[in-house]
Amino acid sequence: ARRSAAAAPITDGALADGTAVPLLANLGSAGGIQAALAAGAEGVGLFRTEFLFLDATSAPTVVEQREKYRELLAAFPGRKVVVRLLDAGADKPLAFLNSAREENPALGVRGLRALRANEDILREQLTALAEADGDTESDLWVMAPMVATVEETRYFTALAHELGLRTVGVMVEVPSAAIGAANILQHAAFASIGTNDLTQYTMAADRMLGSVSNLQDPWHPSVLHLVKMVGDAGADLGKPVGICGEAAADPLLAVVLVGLGATTLSMSPAALADVRAELRGHTREEARALALVALAADDAADARTAVRAAINNRT
Ligand code: PEP
Ligand code: MG
Repeated sequence: ARRSAAAAPITDGALADGTAVPLLANLGSAGGIQAALAAGAEGVGLFRTEFLFLDATSAPTVVEQREKYRELLAAFPGRKVVVRLLDAGADKPLAFLNSAREENPALGVRGLRALRANEDILREQLTALAEADGDTESDLWVMAPMVATVEETRYFTALAHELGLRTVGVMVEVPSAAIGAANILQHAAFASIGTNDLTQYTMAADRMLGSVSNLQDPWHPSVLHLVKMVGDAGADLGKPVGICGEAAADPLLAVVLVGLGATTLSMSPAALADVRAELRGHTREEARALALVALAADDAADARTAVRAAINNRT
């Protein structure tokens, strides 16, 4: 039986051997803050700022943004809060950032590309975040969406540092960033893997298109190999690698992702209790063994079945 969020124990995420795996919340509005706290989230792993401005016809001011970020940060004193810069375009167009019509918006000027094309808006958002950080007891981390290259990583981290942010990272949701993670992570404090887009781009299957939804499955071993590349790079460089896509909300897949090197998991608050319970049942060694089982599978369905079987057969 699923436990309700209200009944969830407020205990930290950890494996059976005590290895800490902080469990964080994905939020898209201030409205989710209470649900995250009630579900025992240890912080926020993905705050999707574009959701604050979906209806805006002009860019929000620094003051307007600062108030919203302050409210978020004040709710998690001393806790990690990872804020994503505006991820505009494709499934989340913003009127003030995405002007041109594109044949393939998922492959177009979106995420960091759109912010760079409107650098004044990027600067204002970073400034508002730095000001909110200065006003609260927060542990603010900021990250850029849709990063594809080392050059983009360097551009973003340099600008964010210039404007006063301290912990600056990138989302890994484009295959080129996963494959290049060892280089990208030299220039970023952390990586957060967005498995929704990483799966879409790895499988060449539009995440908005029902007719290819069978391919939009983060259990696919090709997606998992990319996650492992990022996990390995993070471990080599001593940099945190989070997961903030929907994959982290699947309890068994969460164990596999930790086995591939994820150091934190972020998900919708409703998923926290089940993921927390599943992680407690596996050691790090078991998680690594299950990851190898999944990596060796032919496809997503196979990976899921093989991991379930491996758990059921353990002595
Ligand atoms: C992702 O792509 O996995 C992600 C977390 O970002 P979004 O779903 O907002 O694109
Ligand atoms: Mg994404």
